[in-house]
Amino acid sequence: MRAYEQTPGPDDRTARTWAEVVATARRSTADGLVVGTSGNVSARIGDVVLVTPSGVPYDRLGPGDAVGVDLDGRRVLGELAPTSELPLHLAVYRATDAAAIVHTHAVHATAVSTLVTEVPPIHYVAAALGGPVRVAPYALYGSEELADNALRALDGRTGCLLQNHGTLTYGATLDQAYDRTAQLEWMCRVWLTAATVPGRTPSLLSPERLAEAAERLKGYGQHG
Ligand code: 13P
Ligand code: ZN
Repeated sequence: MRAYEQTPGPDDRTARTWAEVVATARRSTADGLVVGTSGNVSARIGDVVLVTPSGVPYDRLGPGDAVGVDLDGRRVLGELAPTSELPLHLAVYRATDAAAIVHTHAVHATAVSTLVTEVPPIHYVAAALGGPVRVAPYALYGSEELADNALRALDGRTGCLLQNHGTLTYGATLDQAYDRTAQLEWMCRVWLTAATVPGRTPSLLSPERLAEAAERLKGYGQHG
């Protein structure tokens, strides 16, 4: 008989993924995509979702602060209360093949979310998000209604804007989800910059142009 029993802590993979979740959340603050404790980040390992806790500054998060929930939102790891946007994250994991999700209040994207119902396709990076990025109609933060609206806006896309709120992107990795947020914010900034030149209207890309870019992007980068 053993003298004592230890409560199992997170396994190695969970600990590694938690460290990546925290690093991604910190990066979103460092890159100016969020201020303070706004925004949230999550990653899925099987049936467990690791999420940033609600309202805790990211630089205070350590290895012992991991928060894990199952796909019904029941806490399976940690003590801290999960992000208030848990319904949003869980809805995306249930409906898509997402392995990681990033939500921010990035300035240009949030500004654009108040002006249009779809981000005008001003640049081919829209193709990397699945096509012109839609704006999910406004709903209270943390609500099931916001989750529903976002899911509809995400149909066929890996990112959307949340009206008068911010961005949501997902990916196969935390880096991919984060990069999509950064590209989305950058594209919104380009559109705002061009659209606010007095007396001029920016040219936009046709669906055919976006489709050819989507095709080419499949071979983008290093192979072999
Ligand atoms: P949390 O701190 O609860 O993650 O909330 C931040 C946020 O962006 C809500 O929309
Ligand atoms: Zn938010």
